[in-house]
Amino acid sequence: MRASTYPLIDADEAANLVLEHTPVLGIERVALAHCVGRVLAEDLVAPASLPAFPSSAVDGYAVHAADAGRQLRVVGESAAGRPYSRTLQAGTAIRILTGGILPDGADCVVMVEDAEETADAVAVPASLKPGVNFHAPGADLRTGEQVLAAGQQLGPAELGLAAALGFPRLPVFRRPRVALMSTGDELVEVGMKPDRGQIVDSNRWALLAALREAGADVKGLGIGPDQADPLRKLVTDALREVDVMVTSGGVSVGTHDLIKPLLESLGTVHVGRVKLKPGKPFTFATLPEGKIAFGLPGFPVSSLVTFEVFVRPALRKMQGFVQLQRPNLAVRLGYDARATADRTEYQRVRLRREADELVAETTGSQSSSRLMSLAGAHALVRIPPGDQGIKAGTVVEAMILDLP
Ligand code: AMP
Ligand code: MG
Repeated sequence: MRASTYPLIDADEAANLVLEHTPVLGIERVALAHCVGRVLAEDLVAPASLPAFPSSAVDGYAVHAADAGRQLRVVGESAAGRPYSRTLQAGTAIRILTGGILPDGADCVVMVEDAEETADAVAVPASLKPGVNFHAPGADLRTGEQVLAAGQQLGPAELGLAAALGFPRLPVFRRPRVALMSTGDELVEVGMKPDRGQIVDSNRWALLAALREAGADVKGLGIGPDQADPLRKLVTDALREVDVMVTSGGVSVGTHDLIKPLLESLGTVHVGRVKLKPGKPFTFATLPEGKIAFGLPGFPVSSLVTFEVFVRPALRKMQGFVQLQRPNLAVRLGYDARATADRTEYQRVRLRREADELVAETTGSQSSSRLMSLAGAHALVRIPPGDQGIKAGTVVEAMILDLP
């Protein structure tokens, strides 16, 4: 054992350092079918108006509003995709279907429910207003109008808009390629029976899910050993193909903790210890060619909490998101929270709504090995450093994972 030589950095300062050293990835043009969840890299401007033509909003009759109260001769039909191509004369009407073009000369559509058709004529109501029951050209969107802004995430409505405007592909930020490795000689693959002293590697599956949710394209590296040379080879080989390296374990100060010296030899370690609970040994380094590495602590809760605090915002920065952080909300503590003297604590809580407030209840023992403290948690409440703890009823800040 040796004392760590890394300075203990304030949690916010460490988060800023990570983001400062995280690059934004390049841009690629991607087919709409693969754009969901991606982040738009350039502002999207409407190249044409929507709708492009006056389009009937209902089934009925296209008429002149000035012909109100008259019997009109029905002279033709305009259906969606099958226009009536002549100009509508006074005293006449055409049958029009939803989505059909309003013919030149017409200025109003009478709904079929308000009209009375006989043989080849139709009686229209006594009062008609021009401009009714059809969508004017450009009513939804005008040529040159900004439709979407760079940094916006693409969901169903955004992709529908892009298609409506005629874009079969969109410029989006590249997704980060991330290599994921668990380290530790005590680890066995899930499904294997651990011998005495061994444990199942659970971090890799938890982190795989967290990485995917954050938009990463993950390359699994399996379990790395607590031996410097093989570990180094695994990491350097993987780094050829990825933008980011994420490891769990091997960052504390035991003699088998090899990640920090490895990252030190490959690049620059900017964060080696943080005033954070759980997650004090969290490590962050920059590597050649704009790559970055996160050494997450081995304890399951520590690895996921440091993922939330440091890795997820960095992955979002790489993908061009404007919003990097999870939402923060003020919540009222429903329990007496202990505090840690010199470290910010992220305590796992469930939330419930009470009147117009959110009340936080602890998920129980906050041990960094106890994944049950995180399973089903709605938020991480932020308990500032101190000797006193914080009394139930106090309002604190919470990072929202999943609102009830
Ligand atoms: P370390 O940071 O390597 O000292 O790991 C601290 C503790 O976290 C270990 O003693 C294990 O109990 C646990 N741990 C480490 N890696 C994993 C893993 N991949 N899955 C589950 N638990 C782990
Ligand atoms: Mg270990």
